[in-house]
Order: sequence, then C-alpha cells, then structure tokens
Amino acid sequence: MNNQQAIELSQRYLMPTYSPLPVAFVRGEGCRLWDAAGNEYLDFLAGIAVASTGHCHPRVVEAICEQASQLMHTSNLYYIPPQAQLAKRLVELSFADRCFFCNSGAEAGETAIKFARKWAGINRSGECFEIITAKQSFHGRTLATLAATGQEKYQKAFRPLLPGFTYVPFNDVGALEEAISERTCAVMLEPIQAEGGINVPDDDYLPQVRELCDKRGILLILDEVQTALGRTGRWFGYEHADIIPDIITLAKALGSGFPIGACLAKEDVSNAFQPGDHASTFGGNHLACTAALATIDVIEDEGLVANAAQMGSLLEELLRIRGKGLLMAVQFTPGISAKAVQDQCLAAGLVVNAMGDDRVRLVPPLMVSEADCRQAVAILADAVRKVAGN
Ligand SMILES: *Cc1c(COP(=O)(O)O)cnc(C)c1O
Repeated sequence: MNNQQAIELSQRYLMPTYSPLPVAFVRGEGCRLWDAAGNEYLDFLAGIAVASTGHCHPRVVEAICEQASQLMHTSNLYYIPPQAQLAKRLVELSFADRCFFCNSGAEAGETAIKFARKWAGINRSGECFEIITAKQSFHGRTLATLAATGQEKYQKAFRPLLPGFTYVPFNDVGALEEAISERTCAVMLEPIQAEGGINVPDDDYLPQVRELCDKRGILLILDEVQTALGRTGRWFGYEHADIIPDIITLAKALGSGFPIGACLAKEDVSNAFQPGDHASTFGGNHLACTAALATIDVIEDEGLVANAAQMGSLLEELLRIRGKGLLMAVQFTPGISAKAVQDQCLAAGLVVNAMGDDRVRLVPPLMVSEADCRQAVAILADAVRKVAGN
C-alpha cells in the first residue's frame, strides 16, 4: 500500500476523530522511520513519547515474538507469570508496593480515580469524593479522565461530565490550598504538564503539594503516563521533586509501543481494592507484560535514563527550550506558526509535533544520539528560518 492509498482508505473508512499529516510510516528502526515511498525520517516524536527504546528494538521484538508463539492471553482468572514479574520490577524501581495493569493511560487514570474514591470511602467520613486537578492538565479521553482534564476544549461537547472534579491553576500551591475542602479525597497532577504545552513547575511546587496533602489527609496521585520510565532523565518524574506520591499512573513508554498501562500505589492505598472492585480483560496479559519487561530491561541495560538526561542537556544548550530531559518543547516568537514549522520539518525529514500555535514538542526515543540531536536542531533551525522568511 502506498502513501496515497493509505490516505484514501483511511479517509473513506475511519471515523473522523483525527487529522493525520499526509504520510504513512511503514518501517522503523531506532530513531528512524520510513514512509511507504521509502523516504527516511528522523523521529523526534517517538509515537508521542512511546517508542523510548527506539523503534523495533531487537530485544523487545524478540521477546514479543517468542511470547506470542508461547501464549498471549489467558485472562486474570488465572495467574500470569510475566505480570507477576513486571509488577515486581516496577515495585523495585519505584516508591510503590503494588501494581494494577490495564491497556492505556486513560484506563490507568480511571483506576487511580476509582482507587481514590474507594480509599476515601474507607478512610474518610462523610461525602468525600472530590478530586482536584490542574488547569491545562491532560489525563485522557474517557469520561472520568476527561472530567479530570482541566481543558474546556476537550470537555465542552461531552457534558454533563462526571461530577466531583475541581480545577486549580498549575504551579500555584496557594490556589490548591484554598480549593481543598472536607469533600476532597485526592489531588491529581502531572509532574510536568505534557499535553498542556510542557509546563515545568517550580522546584518547590510538588514538595509543597505533598506537604499539603499530608496535612489534610488526602491522596496525591501523579499522572506519570508521559513523564515516567526515563523520559525526564530520571526513572520517574516525582524523583526530581524528591517526594513520594500515593498513586502513579503509567502507560505510553511502558511497552515500547505495545499497549499497556499501569496504576501503582503504596500498600495502604492498594488495600482499598478488593476482588471484584476493578478489572480488565486484556489488562496485564502475557504478551503486554513481556513487552514491558523487555522495555524496562533495555532502558536499564543501555543506560537510557542517563542518556535522556545528557541529550536533554545538549538540546537545552542548542535550543531555547521548555522541559526536562527529553520531554521538551521549543517555543517560537509570535508570528512563527508551530504548525508551519512542523510541516516544514516533515518535508525535510524530521518528525516533530506542533502544540498549540507557538511551540513544537520534541520527545525523541531515549536512545537518541548526539549526532541525531544535532541533525534535528539543524533541520528545525532551517525550518524556522524558512517559515519566518515567508
Ligand atoms: C497520553 C496521556 C494520557 C492518556 O493516555 P492514553 O493512553 O492515550 O489513554 C494520560 N495522561 C497523560 C499525562 C498523557 O500524556
């Protein structure tokens, strides 16, 4: 199938929820992608922070192929060896004591929201179910995570939303303190707001939020769907703030592209759930967990967390950047259209993602090299010059 056929078929048969750029990638290796016409691209989006180990890492591919030929799925009615191993691995890497597996970031968020409500029902008195989230946040597109997402543009066509969410400005601990009431059971935040434009809070924000949550007896949920597993130059975003959350959610990078999400929590919170409270047919099946185990092995064995920190610093030197590690955006002066820069980059063989009108997101695979970074910066600079010149 060539690019044009893929475009025509998609436009004819798919629901119009997306507006894709006019290219169909058919092969990937490391930081490189190829389209159906054989053109090569340098990928600085990694499927939106998903392909952290690079496209089609041989160890991940081999693990998936071998597991697929053994057993893919049995359901959570039975014990699943790779799920148990993956849970142990994630617990050892993080603050958490226990894991629940699902299939996406939104499902991980749903799990966290249900956890918070169940926990409050056991541990708090009265009507206590409200969750405070941040404006400009992004937690997913299902109805509960949409209600958690503090962005009117995503919500407006789907009202009435699930009740029980209030929104405060991000990086404003005073506003948060004012918003907490007897009805509040949790605060849910991204350590760095990703979809909202790559907003890094002040260093003391999350420590102050943690303190406030402790004082008021409420849970701190961190949505680490985009920040976790090395993206920011640490395994988890919360490590930068040197705090311990109560619950985190994971997805994007966890399976190197194989769909898997997870919700991790401390023991006392985990114990709020009992058999029957929550479930997922596919969640944590043999194949998904094997992909995630191989992903974590590669990130660890190849030193990708440190590489993300180093390459992030290099890009920060070369560009005017918002972000941390390899979660970043380049912000343009007014008059330069991010969409035009994105399109110009694509034509020149660099995949980046326009966010809003004034910035492009750079979230390359964590194994990106210095030469890749320099090449991306050169293409990006050239694209900006061309756009500015028009
Ligand atoms: C992408 C993302 C989600 C949603 O993940 P899906 O897998 O698309 O459901 C939730 N939270 C954050 C922070 C994200 O970046």
